[in-house]
Amino acid sequence: MKKHTLAMVGFGGMAGWHYDLIEKLDEMSVAGIWDIREERREYARSRQIHVYESQEELLADEKVDLVLIATPNDVHKSIAIEAMKAGKNVVSEKPVTLQTADLQEMIDASKKYGRFLTVHQNRRWDEDFLTVKKLMAEGTLGEVFRLESRVHGSRGIPGDWRQEPEHGGGMVLDWGVHLLDQALMLFPGVALNTVYATLTNVTNQLVDDGFTADLGFANGIHMIVEVGTSNFISLPRWYVLGTDGTAMIGDWGEDLKIVRACGADEEDVVPVRTAAGLTKTMAPRREDSIFTESRPEEKSDIRDFYRNVMAVLEGREESLIKLNEVARVMSVMEAIFESAKKRQVIYFEE
Ligand code: NAD
Repeated sequence: MKKHTLAMVGFGGMAGWHYDLIEKLDEMSVAGIWDIREERREYARSRQIHVYESQEELLADEKVDLVLIATPNDVHKSIAIEAMKAGKNVVSEKPVTLQTADLQEMIDASKKYGRFLTVHQNRRWDEDFLTVKKLMAEGTLGEVFRLESRVHGSRGIPGDWRQEPEHGGGMVLDWGVHLLDQALMLFPGVALNTVYATLTNVTNQLVDDGFTADLGFANGIHMIVEVGTSNFISLPRWYVLGTDGTAMIGDWGEDLKIVRACGADEEDVVPVRTAAGLTKTMAPRREDSIFTESRPEEKSDIRDFYRNVMAVLEGREESLIKLNEVARVMSVMEAIFESAKKRQVIYFEE
């Protein structure tokens, strides 16, 4: 008998991922699932996974101490509140809900019923992100003045509920929530001053299918966060500019590349000649005037997400994903929508 028992509400693509992950944990097991669609319930049965008759039956199961919510985004809030009312602790998929006011209702319910509520911000375990976080802490690029974090695809917005505003579709809520969470985690204790954003509607007019946001932090750093779904050529996953060097991670799983000036004399810069003129400013560096370094990404273990959840339930650790951090990301997403609508910079008071 394992120490913790989880049940899942919503058994689509992401719940399957959670199921496989929990199977690898020593201290947690899955009691069963509930999904409103018969085909998903049938699929669960075909995998020998217990299927409850209803959400109510799932929430009434006394052996369940934790409920995972992996439904479309619009119903996270109501299911989370029902679950906490029934005495269950809750892991909600991201985005936790659609607006700050809804999140506040969830936090209030967590306090009222004395249950633990957290959010699956799993991309805090992304190895590319952890590599950039370490680079920032090392300070080897001198003073960093600009960071760029992007994910690019070329198939448009997925053809499911992610296309529909009533289900909380759109790429700000889908991928933005991850990249913005990572962005805020890079500067602990630093206030965000400004947000300026534009949205794209290339393949869908009802929800955004991509965005570019400029986050201005109080330490002077500007960070570009971008999600694109009509990009047949991808820009680097990470691009970091400092006074002493530049770093880049091309794509998930690729090495971190750092280029620094190494002090060799560069007086005789050979200009680049183009059809219409010449430039020394933009000429490439001579190989002997730069130092190039390549490092593999940091390693992580995503099982640590549930290990931390269990440690919180046993009173041994604080939650790694704090609700005030989740709320801050929610307010940045709201600022992105407001900025795009008004075509204005949104000022933050932090
Ligand atoms: P999906 O469409 O594959 O699965 C959602 C499932 O929920 C469907 O089977 C649907 O029938 C069911 N459902 C809908 N309303 C329900 C209700 N009221 N009660 C019970 N079941 C209900 O979607 P998905 O890709 O699995 O996404 C689910 C959630 O996971 C979303 O919030 C999404 O943002 C999140 N997600 C997170 C990550 C991540 O890396 N953290 C990745 C993908 C998806």
